[in-house]
Amino acid sequence: MASELRERLEAARAEVARLEHEAATATCAELGHDWHCLGGANCGCFDDACCSVPVHECRRCGACDYGENEWARDQIAKCPLPAEYGEYLATLRALEAQGGAAIRSLKEAKDG
Ligand SMILES: [Zn+2]
Ligand SMILES: [Zn+2]
Repeated sequence: MASELRERLEAARAEVARLEHEAATATCAELGHDWHCLGGANCGCFDDACCSVPVHECRRCGACDYGENEWARDQIAKCPLPAEYGEYLATLRALEAQGGAAIRSLKEAKDG
């Protein structure tokens, strides 16, 4: 008997949680999410960029914006380096790699 009551209690709790979540979701749809800052994420303006944008979670329904927000757009607009710089860096790395290979083969030719 006791275990049956516990089961019913568990089911009722799950239903309450489900309804609370539903109510929260409906409230958010109506009023907008109640964001609070979870922390920062890389802004992704270019490879290796280290600027960060805020990531928010809704206090009410638990939704996450994954850094898709107006603050992030502001930050990206102010990013210190443009996207082209990422391409420039990639080109530079490729040239460095080629240069390294050339130096190694010269050394091998000299030593061998
Ligand atoms: Zn919400
Ligand atoms: Zn950035």
